[in-house]
Amino acid sequence: MTPSTPSAPKPAAPDLCEPCAGIQRHWRKAPGHAELVQGTHSREDRGNGQASFTRYRCDRCGAAWEYENNKSNQHAGWALLEH
Ligand SMILES: [Zn+2]
Repeated sequence: MTPSTPSAPKPAAPDLCEPCAGIQRHWRKAPGHAELVQGTHSREDRGNGQASFTRYRCDRCGAAWEYENNKSNQHAGWALLEH
């Protein structure tokens, strides 16, 4: 007999799944995870070189990610768009 009170404390951040939460953001060449599904791809000329953007959606928690690939920006990488 166990009283069912599933009262997990709500995190302030959007509840990403574990692999999403583990993604290192805004860091060049940081890896994503296996459950991200690739979406649209686009390119942008940033003046100092081409940047390319790839959208991903997490199959597990539904988070929308964008990965920026830009050789001239060490901080271009994963960014969370929405959840
Ligand atoms: Zn996820």
